[in-house]
Amino acid sequence: MFDDDVVCSVCGLDDVLCVCEEVAMQESRMKVVLEKRKWGKIYTIITGLDPKEFDLKSMAKQLRTKLACGGTVKGSNIELQGNHEFRIMGILEKMGFDKDSIDLIKKT
Ligand SMILES: [Zn+2]
Repeated sequence: MFDDDVVCSVCGLDDVLCVCEEVAMQESRMKVVLEKRKWGKIYTIITGLDPKEFDLKSMAKQLRTKLACGGTVKGSNIELQGNHEFRIMGILEKMGFDKDSIDLIKKT
């Protein structure tokens, strides 16, 4: 008896040969975006994390506590109120992220 072949829906290759998942992981770089919204309010948004891989709600909670700010999870983004440009990288690093793999983008 043979198992049904499992074929990747993205590249069409046999599941054993497919590297789509690895490629996706390399491409999903974490980004910290500083964004100015209405009334000139600055938000610090963490994006690029896979919600299936990371517990974003618990991360948001830790960040809110450490930065003493408001914040929420929207889709796969963590949105924090305020400009945390100078503290966020150190905090993310302490949480186990490599700061060299995080892009900081300023839209302010
Ligand atoms: Zn594939």
